[in-house]
Amino acid sequence: PRHDLSNELTALEGTSYGRYKSLRGKWWAGPAILDISRVQSDPYAPPSRVALEFDAEAADLAPDWYATPERREALAVLLAKRLRRACPTRDLRIDGGGQEILRRASCTVGADGSVVFRLGAQFPGHGRRIAGRQAARLLCEVLPDAADEALSVSEEDVLVWTRHADDVKALREAVAAAGLVAFVADGAMLARRSGVDDRPLEKGVPFASPESMAVEFELPHAGTVRGMGVGPGVTLIVGGGFHGKSTLLRALESGVWDHMPGDGREFVVADRSAVKIRAEDGRAVTGVDVHAFVDHLPSGDDTRHFTTENASGSTSQAAAVVEALEAGAKALLIDEDTAATNLMIRDARMQELVAKDREPLTPLVDLVRSMADEHGVATILVMGGSGDYMDVADRVILMDAYRPEDVTERAKALAAKPTGRRVEAEGFRMPRARVVEPRSVSSESRGKQKIKAGGTDGLRFGESDVDVRSVEQITDPAMTTGIGLAIEAAVQHGWIDGESTVADALDRMDEALDAGGAAELLRIRDIDLAVPRRYEVAATLNRMRELRVRQSGE
Ligand code: ADP
Ligand code: MG
Repeated sequence: PRHDLSNELTALEGTSYGRYKSLRGKWWAGPAILDISRVQSDPYAPPSRVALEFDAEAADLAPDWYATPERREALAVLLAKRLRRACPTRDLRIDGGGQEILRRASCTVGADGSVVFRLGAQFPGHGRRIAGRQAARLLCEVLPDAADEALSVSEEDVLVWTRHADDVKALREAVAAAGLVAFVADGAMLARRSGVDDRPLEKGVPFASPESMAVEFELPHAGTVRGMGVGPGVTLIVGGGFHGKSTLLRALESGVWDHMPGDGREFVVADRSAVKIRAEDGRAVTGVDVHAFVDHLPSGDDTRHFTTENASGSTSQAAAVVEALEAGAKALLIDEDTAATNLMIRDARMQELVAKDREPLTPLVDLVRSMADEHGVATILVMGGSGDYMDVADRVILMDAYRPEDVTERAKALAAKPTGRRVEAEGFRMPRARVVEPRSVSSESRGKQKIKAGGTDGLRFGESDVDVRSVEQITDPAMTTGIGLAIEAAVQHGWIDGESTVADALDRMDEALDAGGAAELLRIRDIDLAVPRRYEVAATLNRMRELRVRQSGE
């Protein structure tokens, strides 16, 4: 590293803005190293990127705090949030994240106790001239002071986060070992303040498990937690409108991530492979085997390789199910609010009126049992408007004024009285595997930044714009960026190689990410990112209009 950044900056006062570029590289900054990795070309461009690197001695954290990967992840989130709070100016932009504990680029804590902060810094200018003295203050005083403040964290504060990390890890293991798909602790606050404010509702009704579904687990720090255990198979959530059904399902969707202390959903967990499924008319579908749901279309199209530029509500939802299973999902979460009715149900009267051979769709109600029994895929679905799922449900939860009740026995008694409805499918067969054509997934672009997230709604990937609004488990703008980088890495590292199936490519991605590849993925670019799950990577890939695939063995 070079010395005297402050003097260099002061010497540049009043010179042309482009000369900031001469500062690229590493500098000593007190006990840390400041790495200026990307310099903006003018004062109006997106901020420059800098990293502040502390070795273990400089960071001075207690070894106990970073003893496990889970503690390091939690600690990194805490430190990023502390740095964001400690930065007194908008000229320093640190990605502090939201309510979830995600591996993100903005702060990483190494297994050796080192700490790296990565952030955007708006290099100051007087018009197109360098404001050197101001820059020296920003980079050599304000930033190191803020980092110092972030790192001067009390043991008490850290333990809240690291103990929580230990507890959630233990809870997830216990829930899986008990054969459960999800768990919602008593006292949890599931409701959020608003659609745009993900913090817990202040005066909401805390969750309380029905007696019959209650389970207890022993956690290392929190002691005994009691709550509702959701078993495998088919779970139906019913109840009147506004009674909290969707709120419960959304908490489960989010339960694939860990949450920060104080979130209200600390001890709400769902199988890490649970995927939210919804209808999304207008999306593209490429070579998906949807024939279990859609067969003999009037157009004569082959639904074993179904491709469309403009899917309907039902075919988009069928594709979403098949794509999730292809990526390895073991639990599907579906809400009637965002589902296509004709893919969910077809009741006795409609079966009378419209003959089966005139109806291309096979409703999910006739497939979920087989998915569960023959393929080990659980379904949790919200359905307040039709009773047909009572025939196939293993358990029925009634939400009544935000309180769950177990009404399985009553529902089973009702299901015993025949409605005259006939089952319309033999069973579910896993779809044929697909192989992605690597060249169709190109991040090459002319002039523009290659990968750019539009919040959690869109991803620009090379020349293509991918609409991911309906991939609801993308919870964070930085995750959208992480997905783009993961897809790019998949092509570059040959995880997508034109031979392997989608599932194999995703396995290789996960292996690389776990084997420290995440750090590599984090470092390859000067951008705020959060590490995504394979399911959201697959969902984004599947929404690319340029995607080309063939089916395995063809
Ligand atoms: P449903 O899907 O059954 O129609 P929602 O889950 O959409 O109902 O909830 C309706 C409203 O009630 C929402 O505004 C939600 O924030 C609120 N709500 C949900 N659960 C709770 C709770 N436990 N305490 C207070 N308000 C809640
Ligand atoms: Mg609802």
